[in-house]
Amino acid sequence: MRVIVLGAGLLGTTSAYFLSQLGHDVTVVDRQATPGAETSFANGGQISVSHAEPWANPGAPLKLLKWLGREDAPLLFRLRPDLRQWLWGLSFLRECTPARTRHNIEQIVRLGTYSRDVLQQLRRDTGIAYDQRTQGILHFYTSQKEFDAALAPAEQMRQLGCERQVIDADQAVRLEPALAHIRPQLAGATYTAEDESGDANRFTRELAKQAEAAGVRFLMGHTITALREVAGEIDHVEATDAEGRYQRLRADAYVLAMGSFSPLMAAPLGIRLPIYPAKGYSVTMPVKDASRAHQVSLTDDEFKLVFSRLTGPQGDRLRIAGTAELNGYDRDLNTVRCEAIVRRVEQLFPGAGDTARAQFWSGLRPATPSNVPIIGASRVGRLFLNTGHGTLGWTHACGSGQSIARIVSGLAPEVDFAFTAHTRQAGALRPLASAA
Ligand SMILES: Cc1cc2nc3c(=O)[nH]c(=O)nc-3n(C[C@H](O)[C@H](O)[C@H](O)COP(=O)(O)OP(=O)(O)OC[C@H]3O[C@@H](n4cnc5c(N)ncnc54)[C@H](O)[C@@H]3O)c2cc1C
Repeated sequence: MRVIVLGAGLLGTTSAYFLSQLGHDVTVVDRQATPGAETSFANGGQISVSHAEPWANPGAPLKLLKWLGREDAPLLFRLRPDLRQWLWGLSFLRECTPARTRHNIEQIVRLGTYSRDVLQQLRRDTGIAYDQRTQGILHFYTSQKEFDAALAPAEQMRQLGCERQVIDADQAVRLEPALAHIRPQLAGATYTAEDESGDANRFTRELAKQAEAAGVRFLMGHTITALREVAGEIDHVEATDAEGRYQRLRADAYVLAMGSFSPLMAAPLGIRLPIYPAKGYSVTMPVKDASRAHQVSLTDDEFKLVFSRLTGPQGDRLRIAGTAELNGYDRDLNTVRCEAIVRRVEQLFPGAGDTARAQFWSGLRPATPSNVPIIGASRVGRLFLNTGHGTLGWTHACGSGQSIARIVSGLAPEVDFAFTAHTRQAGALRPLASAA
């Protein structure tokens, strides 16, 4: 079957790779010059099954109120005259009940565990290298109240098979000696040995090369302008190439993986995707003093920041990422927020990174109110969705890519997850007779 994948981020590229492994003739379309150039460019690097507690949880509404209008708040809602933002906010509040939170954690952990397994298998099969580290993820708390609040979700994650162990401050420092500097402030920690980290952008580009070698075509520099529907199914995609030439692209199936831009493309088809951009920041800096730099990937609960160490052809680097700002599609770098991250790095690991050479970046997480992604068939024939991965698109990329490839092929996915209507749609799918 001929399949067009819309978007060459983590989700589009993994979808294309696994579709081609299942024998399909795949074309990927993206407006950027290289794969992984938007939200998948400089994220926190964590493959964190243990980071399964969504932003929407019982403690969130109060925290959000407290943070409203604070420029350096970890999660900042900038209220705009934007109906989509308000509807998203209302759905977010609905996801904050204990029952919804438990349900969402379950979905996120199941997909995360499966996805990490698929990534590890991919590594064994292909030898793909992306500055990966397999030293686990250590989540540390500098507030007793937050640590106490984390115990129940950690217990739920363990019951679901994610081995997120609760450890004390001394154990945390033994696992990551660079934390010794803040030992007196540590209230406690959790450690998940199976979690990993790596450079998501390098992974996407390397996987795209492997996919290309297997026959996948990448139409880069092509801006998709519309998906056209005829008689209840997608007839073609409209795009303009780098020189501005108009193109019509046809296939038997289409996978929408355009991150934060997916809802804009789906809306004219009557598909309302509850995805809103949540801007996050990252800072990447060369390691200055390796003895002070962390080795294990870390999560700093108080500042909602993640820390990864990326060591590869681009050098030995610290990547620190986090914060979320719901403010439409604006990607401006807010100096206050960037400086707050650098200050925190210096507080935790003074002298470890070369702050004078820090590179700042912002990206738009395709966030759903529940943080559960939207994967499966849509109600428009031939159109499949692999989008809305929010804070965990790197963690969930391989599992989502493998699952959508199976769903498009009419095969059952291998993980128990709330996929969208896959059986009905996959059954209804038939190849086009006259595709051009
Ligand atoms: C600061 C930050 C830190 C993060 N840290 C982590 C982490 O540690 N672990 C984790 O698991 N996840 C993390 N994430 C989340 C993760 O990076 C995202 O979920 C993931 O990158 C989303 O991938 P995607 O393929 O859906 O979107 P994208 O990477 O944005 O891909 C969408 C693609 O669609 C293309 N596109 C859009 N519109 C058009 C158009 N009109 N025409 C043609 N092409 C178009 C874009 O060019 C882009 O390449 C983080 C995100 C941020 C912002």
